[in-house]
Amino acid sequence: MDIVKVIGAGLAGSEAALQLAKRGIKVKLYEMRPNKSTGAHVTGECAEFVCSNSLGSADVTNASGLLKREMEILGGELIKIAKDNSVPAGNALAIAREDFSKAVTKRIEEDENIEIIREEVTGIPDGNVIIASGPLTSDALSKSIQEFTGNNHLSFFDAIAPIVEIDSIDFDKAFWGSRYDKGEASYIIAP
Ligand SMILES: Cc1cc2nc3c(=O)[nH]c(=O)nc-3n(C[C@H](O)[C@H](O)[C@H](O)COP(=O)(O)OP(=O)(O)OC[C@H]3O[C@@H](n4cnc5c(N)ncnc54)[C@H](O)[C@@H]3O)c2cc1C
Repeated sequence: MDIVKVIGAGLAGSEAALQLAKRGIKVKLYEMRPNKSTGAHVTGECAEFVCSNSLGSADVTNASGLLKREMEILGGELIKIAKDNSVPAGNALAIAREDFSKAVTKRIEEDENIEIIREEVTGIPDGNVIIASGPLTSDALSKSIQEFTGNNHLSFFDAIAPIVEIDSIDFDKAFWGSRYDKGEASYIIAP
């Protein structure tokens, strides 16, 4: 196969690029950050988590846990990096978000089959393309996708969890606990 262009070095685009590269396929991975931000991402790193640092339950009797186990069995790259950069979170898999993104970026930059190009893609390119620009796709590319698909109603709604400075928490009221009383007490619970 010729070169594959992957648009967006988020979670999906980074995984897609690494999977293609592993199979000997050359990849041009386009990422608009840090030159242009999405409004939610704060770094220029690949695979940045914009909100919760949790990937959900690690228990295989739970749908989310089973999915992650299947990803591992199938050779998922990001799940391995997530496990290498996990933090205590009871029965869930949660990551140290900065360490995780830096590790993904390093893997991508070191892969000789991947060229990372730090620019915004404003229209769907010719050739083999994976569009992995996520819910915060830039306006120009969104417009191009709308024209291509004939869909005028692409939309996305979400909220972002605030990140709270630990020094600002009153521990006369809040206390350390564990999620669902499982694992170590690694959460701050504010009743
Ligand atoms: C505010 C907010 C809160 C969220 N909270 C959660 C949560 O708590 N838990 C959860 O599971 N999911 C959450 N999500 C959903 C989350 O975005 C997805 O889980 C995940 O990030 C999607 O991965 P992705 O690879 O599709 O997109 P992203 O990780 O967003 O990656 C897309 C990448 O494409 C790049 N890009 C966009 N347009 C272009 C362009 N034209 N050219 C080049 N690069 C481009 C972006 O910069 C970005 O790096 C939230 C989303 C938002 C917006």
